[in-house]
Amino acid sequence: MLQVILTYIVNVIIVFVFFPILESAVQMVHPFSWDWLMKPLHLADKLEVYIVLAMALPVIVAIGFFLPPFRWLSHVLNGERKPTTAESGYIEPIMKELCERSGVSRNSLVLRMRSDNDINAFASGINHITVHTRALQILDERQLVGVLAHELGHLRHRDTIYLTITYAMNRLGQLILNLVILLNVALNVFMIIPILNILVRILQLVFLAMIAAVKYVLLIPQYITYYFDSRRREYAADAYAVSIGLGRELRDGLVYLGILSAEIAVLDNGQVCDCERRGFFSRFFITHPKTINRIHRLDEGIEVYELKRGLKASREAGNSANS
Ligand SMILES: [Zn+2]
Repeated sequence: MLQVILTYIVNVIIVFVFFPILESAVQMVHPFSWDWLMKPLHLADKLEVYIVLAMALPVIVAIGFFLPPFRWLSHVLNGERKPTTAESGYIEPIMKELCERSGVSRNSLVLRMRSDNDINAFASGINHITVHTRALQILDERQLVGVLAHELGHLRHRDTIYLTITYAMNRLGQLILNLVILLNVALNVFMIIPILNILVRILQLVFLAMIAAVKYVLLIPQYITYYFDSRRREYAADAYAVSIGLGRELRDGLVYLGILSAEIAVLDNGQVCDCERRGFFSRFFITHPKTINRIHRLDEGIEVYELKRGLKASREAGNSANS
């Protein structure tokens, strides 16, 4: 939610601040009149248009993202496809177990495949889980059901819905960014005219500086929320896997993936240790928490879960012995 609000604020600010700056920047390049260029974008004349645009566009785009035609298109663009018969044969029993454990109906989930050499699976939209082909080859059934439980956690916590809305909010700023990029390229037409081409070059430099600035400003909400929100969501999705009794499976999957990516190592005594060589600052922009931290939290969660299960089982055994 934090990310949605921050993204919206940043995008609206860009709309309101960007055009006046753009206008004064363009006006600096005398003696030519740039009115023909700036007139259609003139903010003072069309304040209400911008207010309506700032309010309506993200909402329209956000709704659009959940509608079937757009969803279908984004899946196609992402290279997602229906599983083949062989893939279904392998993964459907795993999905069945996942649904039984979680109480989620199989019909309410859509499973997609993507031919990709990254060992990955991800959740998207309202009810989509996509598995990379490589994950299917590398992970065993138990590890895969654990990883899918984590992805189901994202869907159950509505993380993917917030992400989609955030993406939609960002379209507003991106639209303006693309507009200026396009404008900048279009100015190349004047390059053949002597003297004018020098002025146009100066203008293009101003545009380039603006493009760079807007790009960074648009990333601010991501930077802020990556550190706090995204990692919290990852831990919460892990906790969900534990809560439906698939914590050990997810842990095994994470350990296996951690070893493959050289982020962790397992000592002879079975203890897991950290070998990640990333500095504090490069870690700052990574959505997922450190693998070692996730494993430690999973261990704690699994311990509590199994303790509770044990207590419940012994209480039930006591009850049936009494009756
Ligand atoms: Zn995740």
